[in-house]
Amino acid sequence: MILSQFDEHSVFSQLNAFGHQKVVYCSDPDTGLKAIIAIHDTTLGPALGGTRMQLYKTENEALQDALRLSRSMTYKAAISGLNLGGGKAVIIGDSRLHKSEALMRRFGRFIENLHGSFITAEDVGTTPKDMEYIRMETKFVTGVPESIGGSGDPSPVSARGVFMGIKACLKEHFGNDSLAGKSVAVQGIGHVGENLVGLLRNENAKVYICDINEDRLIQIAKKYGAKAVANNSLFDLDIDIYSPCALGATVNTETINRLKCPIIAGSANNQLADEVVHGNMLLEKGILYAPDYLINAGGLINCYSEIAGFSKKKTLQMAENIYEATRRVIQKSKEEKIPTIEAANKIAEKRIADIRKIKASY
Ligand code: NAD
Repeated sequence: MILSQFDEHSVFSQLNAFGHQKVVYCSDPDTGLKAIIAIHDTTLGPALGGTRMQLYKTENEALQDALRLSRSMTYKAAISGLNLGGGKAVIIGDSRLHKSEALMRRFGRFIENLHGSFITAEDVGTTPKDMEYIRMETKFVTGVPESIGGSGDPSPVSARGVFMGIKACLKEHFGNDSLAGKSVAVQGIGHVGENLVGLLRNENAKVYICDINEDRLIQIAKKYGAKAVANNSLFDLDIDIYSPCALGATVNTETINRLKCPIIAGSANNQLADEVVHGNMLLEKGILYAPDYLINAGGLINCYSEIAGFSKKKTLQMAENIYEATRRVIQKSKEEKIPTIEAANKIAEKRIADIRKIKASY
């Protein structure tokens, strides 16, 4: 039977649609483990991606999440110049109710059985403690606490990368990358957002912040001398940079029409509600968009450094390279008159294709 004869929703059709290499279903009734590990592409190296734990309405929804997220990891690693492929795992269950040491360790055994073709890390619904449990069964896990030899919290490195992405955009738009006197609205002042606010304020930027956690908002505003604003007023501010550091899909038709800033650059994943539609809308409106997966790659760089045994200093230097990488993307976008997200995709795809050719000649 040829592939096109499968139903378009079949697992094989979905794997084929975006060129995934492998999907592993992990089931263990004793611990209640139900997980899916998706390996998108290992041309550049082992597939690295976090393990997300959440409730999904259907198994197919969980599969789609794993497929979509693992593919983004391939692009993120490729554009960051890392020798890693893209993967992602999802554990189906409520992370507050269904998690146990045994479940995590059983999941670790499944990862061990992939012999290093998949390496995992923390993600939504999992914690450094969970990574410790996985580590008891396999060495193919990163982002474990510093106390047991890991790289610890990746957020400062992620924030540094976002900061460099912002600077690259400033250089393009204003001719210099100084933040002094520039105004930035940071949406979400969690792990990455807070670190970013610190970096921005150190360079005397005027920083507006918003968050659904009001106590934290007041605390961070006071700590860094930032101005707290209501979430819904953010898109009407007269600012230079909008920095989404909370949720995806905040850059959509409605917000693009409201935004007055010339630059969007933040840490949130999947910022564009629709990559093609909104990438083009931003291009037409003259808003410079720093591709999310490029400038938020600091977390992945941190994991890579842990595997490679790099120092904190080298890790931060690697995150600073995001400045030049963003400049290259902007250059390509201008030359080809295409959205920056498309330019980033093309650069990532070319690197994979080039390395695939070299490997084929071994
Ligand atoms: P976090 O959970 O620590 O912080 C998120 C913050 O956003 C919280 O303070 C939360 O209250 C706030 N928030 C949630 N919904 C909001 C809303 N509707 N409006 C305003 N604020 C809201 O997460 P984080 O680790 O700081 O990550 C932030 C974003 O960056 C996420 O999208 C994450 O996927 C992405 N990211 C993080 C890293 C990392 O190293 N932590 C790396 C790459 C990408």
